[in-house]
Amino acid sequence: MSVKAKVYLVGAGPGNPLYLTRKAERCIQQADVILYDQLVHPFILQLSDPKAEWIHVGKTPYTKYIKQDRINALLVEKASQHQTVVRLKGGDPAIFGRVVEEVETLKAHGIDFEIVPGITAASAAVSQLGRGLTERNVSTNITFTTGHFKENEENDIDITTLEHNGTLAIYMGIKRLPIIMNQIKTHIQKDFPVVVIFNASRHDQFIISGTVHTIIDQLSQLPERIGPGITIVGDVARDIRSDASLPLVPNVVLLKGPRAQCLSRAYELYEEGKVAYLDYRDDEHYHRTQREKITELIHQSTIQAIEQF
Ligand code: SAH
Repeated sequence: MSVKAKVYLVGAGPGNPLYLTRKAERCIQQADVILYDQLVHPFILQLSDPKAEWIHVGKTPYTKYIKQDRINALLVEKASQHQTVVRLKGGDPAIFGRVVEEVETLKAHGIDFEIVPGITAASAAVSQLGRGLTERNVSTNITFTTGHFKENEENDIDITTLEHNGTLAIYMGIKRLPIIMNQIKTHIQKDFPVVVIFNASRHDQFIISGTVHTIIDQLSQLPERIGPGITIVGDVARDIRSDASLPLVPNVVLLKGPRAQCLSRAYELYEEGKVAYLDYRDDEHYHRTQREKITELIHQSTIQAIEQF
């Protein structure tokens, strides 16, 4: 006997757990299994039922991608075994989130699905700058683009928005930024303001500000692998100050005790700009995958405090 499954393709926002929609939170709470990407904040996973299975399907530094086909197959497999499957993606699933590949697979198998939008990185980034993606008399249009192309493709990106008083938001473009900045220099004479925001909205956010001519030099002084970064080019990026105090290893508060109390305390801590996790490493009520993930996380963190309720 099988129950009719539903797959939710959910946007988890830019990382800060407070930037999760209510709908996303409800999906996560109801999930039997969650397939999540690398950029999803682990505390967001902790909102799930203790019995839910967590499966990491993202790319981690030093390892290869799980192929999209493999993720599609896993979605179908899990939907045949469970009632509620959540596919959790960073930001908004409809922006460089490959959501349509997954939707096509689900449709082909007659599996019910729903897309739940999330706050995309560009929106999170400009909110931190106190600017708009569009601004009256400053920027009247916006292009979301990416610096990441399939192997061996040396495509130019579409920068026409900059010729029309627009804003360019470049996802996944940090590595290729020198090429992109050269492209802009070659085609447009104006030295536009550029801001790169890493880890936007998260405790370890930092901002590098410059222009098309200077930004690469500034970026070259940063350590490698500092988290996801988005580049904003255009007049909305003018007069922004760099802010690059880098907390390398997160200072974490561990919460132990009754779940409801721990969750509400965690939200308070996130409001204060801290990082908190529920510590249930030794609690057998939690699914093995949840205990393993939290054990691994704690090993990678510096523990600032333990609060027991
Ligand atoms: N669907 C996601 C984007 C996925 S592509 C969204 O809507 O945001 C991954 C890229 O998004 C990263 O390489 C980076 O450019 C950007 N990104 C995601 N989260 C970010 C964050 N918190 N801060 C800065 N950039 C982020």
